Amino acid sequence: MTVNPCVLCGACCAHFRASFYWGEADDVRPDGVPVALTDDLNPYARVMKGTNQTEPRCIALEGIIGQKVSCSIYPRRATPCRSFIPSYENGEPNLRCDQARIAHGLPPLTPADWEDDRPNPEPEAPDHPPAGLPTAA
Ligand code: SF4
Ligand code: SF4
Repeated sequence: MTVNPCVLCGACCAHFRASFYWGEADDVRPDGVPVALTDDLNPYARVMKGTNQTEPRCIALEGIIGQKVSCSIYPRRATPCRSFIPSYENGEPNLRCDQARIAHGLPPLTPADWEDDRPNPEPEAPDHPPAGLPTAA
């Protein structure tokens, strides 16, 4: 299986404001975003600490951008984090993903970043899917 390129990136978590509906936090639902890691943005929204500033970096982002990163609240991250699709994961570019990567000196993803680099254990058959189809990690 290919390595999810997001694990080697993290740029979007240090480029955009990560705001979300206030009711997604754990003072409203127990499995929600830890409210201690958020600030109030307005009466309807909260924002991940560290992302509402000139040089953003989410408080939940661990690791080194462009090398190896993780989200310390991954199972409890907010909807905008869950719905941010990396370029070409689904076969389409995401200009915001590209923008974040470029801002951190990383090249935009290409379809090749989602190719499965395992050796094919099966012999090629005429109806075998073409090698290099984008794969979910
Ligand atoms: S900028 Fe794109 S590749 Fe990097 S972590 Fe975000 S979605 Fe993934
Ligand atoms: S909560 Fe996690 S996924 Fe969302 S911006 Fe922060 S580090 Fe990134």
